[in-house]
Amino acid sequence: MFFVQSTFTTSSLDDFFYLAGILRLSTKYFVGHLRTQAIRHLTQTWSFTLRGHDDMVELALQSPVVENMSHPYVHPIHILNLAREVNVRIIVPSTLYFLSLYPLIDILRADHPKLVVKHPSRPSSQISTGDIEAYILMFQYRLDVILGFVRHFVGERTAHTATCLNNQTPCTRGFARLAARLSRSWNTRTGPLHYMMQAVEELSDDGSVCLPCRRSFREDVIRLREQIWDNLPVVISSATWDDLKAMDLTS
Ligand SMILES: [Zn+2]
Repeated sequence: MFFVQSTFTTSSLDDFFYLAGILRLSTKYFVGHLRTQAIRHLTQTWSFTLRGHDDMVELALQSPVVENMSHPYVHPIHILNLAREVNVRIIVPSTLYFLSLYPLIDILRADHPKLVVKHPSRPSSQISTGDIEAYILMFQYRLDVILGFVRHFVGERTAHTATCLNNQTPCTRGFARLAARLSRSWNTRTGPLHYMMQAVEELSDDGSVCLPCRRSFREDVIRLREQIWDNLPVVISSATWDDLKAMDLTS
């Protein structure tokens, strides 16, 4: 086991099963550095930073389909069940965030092509009772975030008194128009973090809103996204990202 190749890749499902094997063995035999290395590798996709999460989503939108599988190639249920099996917590918040985009009925049915693959290293494809609760908490958080963003953050936004170049009214109307469009475009599978950046892009194309108002909107959205991300572990547990890093990334 000590001769195991130390660089992992995740370009297919087989790579994931290989990594799952390493993680199980290194956990069972207390090979701390190898376990940490495997966890670090998983965090490249199931990130503890917003930047890492954004990169993963970007990659998922751009990546080719390999053997009928799309990036990230592994179903989040398998990541979650592996994490529970080997007691890794740092990948759980982003995995549950991603999983909460899937309808619960599909998760319970467990017949997604990524879930029915046969392999001796495959984690369970069934969601556990405890994780159903976590899924619901995350699902609700996601919807609260979307509604808060559409109704309050954008819906009640007014032009900046000091910096607006349009005497405010046209810019405030621009925000109201954006809120109206946003309220019609989301659904229960919308990922708010991505959706917020789409709102920024949309406003940046609206010439009726002045540049300083567009810029301050962008900056405020970026701050809001960071707050939402920082809160992700707290939604499903009492731990913060720093607690999880201390637990899982120091060997
Ligand atoms: Zn303005």
